[in-house]
Amino acid sequence: MLFQKAKNRQRNKVYKDERILKNKKERMRSLRRKMSLFFPTNRDRLSGKVSFCTFLNKIRSASMAVETAFVLPLFFLGVVTMISFMDIYKIQTEHLTKLCQSAKEAGMYAYLPDVGGPEEITLPDIYAYEPIGGLVPLPKVWIHNRVRVHAWTGKEDYGETGEGGAQQTPEKMVYVTETGSVYHRSLSCSYINLSVEQISGSSVQSRRNQYGEKYEACEICSRNQNPAGIVFITGKSNRYHNLGSCSGLKRTVRIVKESEAKGMGACGRCG
Ligand SMILES: [Zn+2]
Ligand SMILES: [Zn+2]
Repeated sequence: MLFQKAKNRQRNKVYKDERILKNKKERMRSLRRKMSLFFPTNRDRLSGKVSFCTFLNKIRSASMAVETAFVLPLFFLGVVTMISFMDIYKIQTEHLTKLCQSAKEAGMYAYLPDVGGPEEITLPDIYAYEPIGGLVPLPKVWIHNRVRVHAWTGKEDYGETGEGGAQQTPEKMVYVTETGSVYHRSLSCSYINLSVEQISGSSVQSRRNQYGEKYEACEICSRNQNPAGIVFITGKSNRYHNLGSCSGLKRTVRIVKESEAKGMGACGRCG
């Protein structure tokens, strides 16, 4: 009886040991499983087996890394290209708008009846576009634009007669300065077309203008002043200017219809 008890105790102890060992193994396995979740590459090393499946998985993850390495720079390259295209488009539009405006204005000036300008006007525009370079410096791209317009031939005034009405002769244009109270028929009128001469201040007292008049100080820029080292004079006026930027030396001319300048008198020199 005692012997059986001892045997049973021994067996129980063996069972207990086995259970502890089993528990230990189970815990280790679960720990490995958990570890493999965090470090997938360790899984193969831990298991010590390399199956065909894990090999495929390895290739797949490797190809993912290569794809990422290729796709990311390609994506950024694409984005930079897109931005460059938009940038080129914006700059080109700005240049063309400016060029068209200048061509239109040139076309208007070519209309001047007493100058006999050309029939067609071509304006070129060349500019360099510097591409947005990331790491690689890119060379400049030269862009050529050209705009051709026909010289302005006048506006058809349908007025009250309607669209089918008789075509009227284009109205005459006259020139008006910003400050002047008269209009000029010719752009070459000496009142508009000033030829400014630069002389030394000491010689201004002995100089006479085209009408034999003495030069006096300009009221705008040199009131009560002696002539400076260098003064500016014109052949037609009797004023000397100490400042080259004086408004008395400049003429800003506008072209207006003769009918619009009716309130003004005609110029005594050209009109
Ligand atoms: Zn002046
Ligand atoms: Zn005039």
